[in-house]
Formats: sequence, C-alpha cells, structure tokens
Amino acid sequence: MQHQEDHVKTIDRDVVIIGAGPSGLTAARELRKAGHSVAVLEARDRVGGRTHTNVIEGAVFEVGGQWVSPDQTALIGLLDELGLQTFSRYREGDSVYIGPDGEPIRYSGEMFPVSDYTREEMERLIVILDRLVDEAGPEAPWNHPDARALDTISFHHWLRQQSDDEEACDNIGLFIAGGMLTKPAHSFSTLQAVLMAATAGSFSNLVDEDFILDKRVVGGMQSVSERMADELGEDVILSSPVRTLRWSGMDGPDTTEGVTVVSDTTTVRARYAVVAVPPNLYSRISYDPPLPRRQHQMHQHQSLGLVIKVHAVYTTPFWREEGLSGTGFSAGSIVQEVYDNSNFEDPRGTLVGFVSDEKADAMFELAPHERRERILAAIANFLGPKALEPEVYYESDWASEEWTRGAYASSYDLGGLHRYGRDQRTPVGPIHWSCSDIAAEGYQHVDGAIRMGQRTAVEIGRALSAGVQAAPTGRGA
Ligand SMILES: Cc1cc2nc3c(=O)[nH]c(=O)nc-3n(C[C@H](O)[C@H](O)[C@H](O)COP(=O)(O)OP(=O)(O)OC[C@H]3O[C@@H](n4cnc5c(N)ncnc54)[C@H](O)[C@@H]3O)c2cc1C
Repeated sequence: MQHQEDHVKTIDRDVVIIGAGPSGLTAARELRKAGHSVAVLEARDRVGGRTHTNVIEGAVFEVGGQWVSPDQTALIGLLDELGLQTFSRYREGDSVYIGPDGEPIRYSGEMFPVSDYTREEMERLIVILDRLVDEAGPEAPWNHPDARALDTISFHHWLRQQSDDEEACDNIGLFIAGGMLTKPAHSFSTLQAVLMAATAGSFSNLVDEDFILDKRVVGGMQSVSERMADELGEDVILSSPVRTLRWSGMDGPDTTEGVTVVSDTTTVRARYAVVAVPPNLYSRISYDPPLPRRQHQMHQHQSLGLVIKVHAVYTTPFWREEGLSGTGFSAGSIVQEVYDNSNFEDPRGTLVGFVSDEKADAMFELAPHERRERILAAIANFLGPKALEPEVYYESDWASEEWTRGAYASSYDLGGLHRYGRDQRTPVGPIHWSCSDIAAEGYQHVDGAIRMGQRTAVEIGRALSAGVQAAPTGRGA
C-alpha cells in the first residue's frame, strides 16, 4: 500500500467526496456553489452510480434508476436547473393482473380485478398502512410510539395478523417487498415497510403506478450525473477506488484536522470527507482509526436487495395494438411487474420487467438461455406470445457489479431500523454520509440521493464557514 501511495498524486481541497453517483455529485456541486473547493473520487470509469444508460445491440437501455414521480421535487428542481426534459410513460389501455389461479385478467382503473372480499381487504390494509405512514413520517420513524413492536415483526407476518385473505396480503406485500425493497416480505420489518411508503408520501402513492412511475428523463437518468460532472470538470476523478480514509478530530466540535483519503490514482487531503456510497460498501474502505463501535455494528445490519431488471425490445409496441398498456402485476409470477418502457420518440416497443429476491435467486441458478426463456414466458403470460421473440433482450445484473452489489438500494434487517436508524446520518468527526439509502423523502430513489447531497453540503458548508469565521480568534483552523 505504501508503495502504491508513493506513486499517486496528492491534492488539497476543502472537501473530498467518495463516489460520483447522484448524491456525491450533488454534494460536490452545492459545496462548489458555496465557494468551497472539492474533489470527487469515483471507483468506476463513469459517473452516475446506480443510474446508467447503456447501448446494447443498438438498443438504448436505462439499466438502473429511471423513473421520476411528482413528489420527487428535489430531482425535478435539479432537472430544471440542468436543462433536462422529461417524458411520460405510455399508459393507455388495459392492464393485466394474474392472481393465484394463474389466469391473466384485463382490467382498467387502479384496483386489481379481485373478488369483492379481497378488494375490501386490500383497501382496508391500505387505510391501516396510510395511517401508520402519517404517524411515522419519513424523517424519524424510529420515534413512532410503537416503533419497536413494528420493527420486530416481519411485514409478511404483520399482514397476516391484519387479514385472513392470502391474496390481499400477497398483493399488498408485493408493492413493498418485490416492488421496492426487493427482499422477501419475511426478511424486513413492518416499520421498514412504513418508512418505504412514508418516503413516497403515502402507501396509496406507492400502490399507484401512475404516480410512482410517472416520467422519465429524455436522454436517461444518468445524464443528471453527467451534467453535474461536466460542471465539476477535472475535480471528478474516475477509476479511483478509495481504499483508505485517515481521519482525526473526533474529540469535540473542532474537526478541522480533517482527512486524508487515498485512492488508486489520487490522494486528497481535506477538511471533511463525504462517503457517498451505499452502506453495504462502507466497509470496502479502511478507516484509520477504525470507525466507532456503533457504526461497525449498524453497517452490518444494512444490506442491498436483489432484482433483475429485464429489458426486451420489439419491432413495434405490439401490445398497444391490442388495447393493452403493457402494465402487468402478479405476486406469484416470476416477473411480478411489467411495464411499457419504450424510449422517447422511438418507434420500437420496449418492455421492462422485474424479477425480485427469491425469484431472482432461482433464475440465476439457470443457464442464461433457460433463464431468458422462463422470463420471456412469464412476460408472454401477461401480454401474449409475441412477447416471446424480442429483437434485443438484456438483464441488468447489479448484484455482480463490484461497486454496487445489489439493487435497488439498502434496507435494515428485522429490528435494525429502530435500533440504528437514528444514527445513520450522524457524521463521525469529519466524515459525513450521503446516499439515497439513508434519505428520508426519496429514500432508495435518485430524489433521496439528491436530497442527501444537498443536506450534507449545507451541514459541511456551515461548519466550514464557522471554521473560517472562527480562525481569527484562534478557535478554528
Ligand atoms: C435496477 C435499478 C433500478 C432503479 N430504479 C429507480 C427508479 O426508477 N427511480 C429512482 O429514482 N431510483 C431508482 N433506482 C435507485 C437509484 O438509482 C439510486 O437510489 C441512486 O442511484 C443512488 O444514488 P447514490 O449517489 O446514493 O448512490 P450510487 O448511485 O450507488 O453512487 C455511488 C457511487 O459510489 C461509487 N463507489 C462505491 N465505492 C467506492 C469507493 N470505495 N471509492 C470510490 N467510489 C466508490 C460507485 O461506483 C458509485 O458511482 C434504481 C436502482 C437500480 C439499481
């Protein structure tokens, strides 16, 4: 390591940011705007993190984050600032629901075509969850009076305590489990489910795909990061995984002794560090001295989910001719959600499907051609046999990426949220944490990444300004 450090360039900045995803780049941009010097060290040879526009066999895919919903005002504001346009998802026509009997049923409107009793139970569960969401809120759900009780029962078992209707429980579970946290509903708590819904405003918002999957960015969501990186120019340093973060200043409010952050290409000496990577990757960095006990423990209870985002491109959006929107839901299917994901002004039709958690495990056991056959057959079950023969087929596999290791984002294991959540955003000396995985509003989404970047920049900016002002009296620097 010493040998490597001898050959890297050393630079000095006010703040060093680790990770050039939307969160790190937002923090850097805001700090720069406030007059502070920054350097962003990024492990990959590109910016954007979990947002990435890729061209595969001539087809353009957003292989990571892409959708924008109306409540995501931090993202919408940034899109405006950066001059980026959005377009609406195609949603004309009927959707398709496949229930426990495996039969596809066309329907319109928001509610699945289920029996009257199942519908009533689903509506009742949504009311209960909306109430809990109102009480808990996105900022500090661990302060809810029943936080411990809600955090020590799995969402799966809690749903079954509320209702004896298995189909209703499966359908409500789907929106959070496979649909958002991409973990089985038995592996995370009801408090975590409530937080997920609270960060989207309400559980009702979360079950409304017209709300949650409203718009996309023309040119792809990665262009948000690319535009910010263009502004930052040479202060974004690619292909530079950070290996070591040396820090001091834990004792008392004076953290100005700062940090030295060592990457493969560049060492940055700075007053503050922003670790803008998902929590499952915090421990890829060696901290010297080690982080405090509480962080060591907390980080072992946060993990990323698993989902395969499947893209299939067809000569035309054939489903539209049959009066279908391309939207399909089924808690029991390998592909539990499918949507029309055709690109802006592209005559071809693109479908996107999601294969989540244990179903993804099972699919990854198969040979690639067999997996493709099984997944396309599941999509054809919603939209007909034409779905079996796409021109281009691609599976986003973020769990294999060294600098992500899962999708979409991280959540706590059972009991972890009320135990550790209150400290997930607390800085450690000069080290601040910034990523969508610890956001309040916009949690797990690009919007949350941006909100965390803005919030972190304000906190550090304030401390830096205080330090500058304090210097003449001998209390700063
Ligand atoms: C398949 C998929 C679909 C999604 N769909 C949506 C969606 O439709 N809408 C939405 O809003 N969100 C969606 N998301 C989530 C969204 O993409 C993320 O919440 C967002 O990208 C998080 O931003 P971030 O900056 O916090 O982290 P990241 O985007 O993960 O960025 C972290 C960066 O840190 C870098 N890094 C890691 N370790 C190191 C190190 N040691 N040294 C230097 N650099 C390091 C990484 O390479 C990465 O560039 C989706 C995500 C996935 C994977």
